Amino acid sequence: MIPYGHQSMDNDDIQAVMGVLKSDFLTQGSKVDEFEKKLAEYCGSKYAVVVSNGTAALHSAYVAAGLKSGDEFITSSITFPATSNAGLWQGAKPVFVDIDSETGNINVDLIEEKINEKTRAIVPIDYTGRPVDLVKIEQLADKYNLTVIEDACQALGAVYKGKKIGSVSDLTVFSFHPVKTITTGEGGAILTNNEKYYKILKKFITHGITKEDFIYESPGDWYFEMQMLGMNYRLTDLQCALGISQLKKVDNFVDQRRELVSRYNEAFKNLDIIDLPVEDTDEVQSAWHLYVVRLKENLVSHRSSIVRRLRTEGVGAQIHHIPTHLHPYYQQLGYKKGCLPVTENFYERIISLPLYPGLKENQQDFVVKKFIEITKEFI
Ligand SMILES: *Cc1c(COP(=O)(O)O)cnc(C)c1O
Repeated sequence: MIPYGHQSMDNDDIQAVMGVLKSDFLTQGSKVDEFEKKLAEYCGSKYAVVVSNGTAALHSAYVAAGLKSGDEFITSSITFPATSNAGLWQGAKPVFVDIDSETGNINVDLIEEKINEKTRAIVPIDYTGRPVDLVKIEQLADKYNLTVIEDACQALGAVYKGKKIGSVSDLTVFSFHPVKTITTGEGGAILTNNEKYYKILKKFITHGITKEDFIYESPGDWYFEMQMLGMNYRLTDLQCALGISQLKKVDNFVDQRRELVSRYNEAFKNLDIIDLPVEDTDEVQSAWHLYVVRLKENLVSHRSSIVRRLRTEGVGAQIHHIPTHLHPYYQQLGYKKGCLPVTENFYERIISLPLYPGLKENQQDFVVKKFIEITKEFI
């Protein structure tokens, strides 16, 4: 089966990891600092903190933003559940806002009415790698003194108004899972320009321990202090070496994705049973994590059958994402089906088709052929 996403590994990646395996430090060595510096440099941000996965990155960002029990954060529901789960761990409550029916990103015009005295943060998701309208979100955050935590797990390499994603929001979160733009196996990062957030993040991800800025007097150079309750969310040197090597290719990976997207768009341009993904503009350039088509209304009831048929024929179609609020756990928390009509309609229409650097043109042609053949069966 042609999967919907896949990592790209070459010999340089393998050599980079081998180098660490032969060295003295498998974790907590020099590769961590190096990866953080290069990532910050790439994004045009002051600081990067790398962690064990994107979910840990989200959790750490919520901690840095000071979210606690009784607080609320505003987000959307077409995402991986980790976006709001990580806030729930802090005791904060996700307040879901409906999405834009074209992009799948949070509808920025609906945010303000959900802001109240409990709101602490806005957590927009760059769905499929396409940046949200960050200027509007920033304006609201300034007006109501909120922190913006951008879930850019899908958007490393995306550009917003000439700036790389990772340099714009108060805190930006990336994932390095194998299907994402670059991979470290599991892995993630938080980017920020704010030194205060940076210092909290560095402590939180290693048990709340620090070797500087002591509260008590230091009795010797063996000394360290635990100053807050933290986790072990560290990324290993093995993974950071892989990350450094992968990061060299990030723009090339995104270019390959963009190239495949235009081939899909060209192949589907006369297929009037689907809506194609919203295209890039001068201001908004997606990292193209996913290629998501939306079935028109007359095919919606056949969506599951179409996906099943695609998979039997060797096309690893997938659905991104089941809305968070519709999962049993969130239903039990009291979120109601029907409360986000645009999100729920969007969910019923979407299908993700294979997209990753290394997808061969003949494989893509096969996907196109099968998709057209199979959808025709249901018209
Ligand atoms: C992948 C992803 C995550 C989770 O990242 P992990 O590295 O798998 O923990 C969170 N949010 C979004 C939008 C994602 O795509």
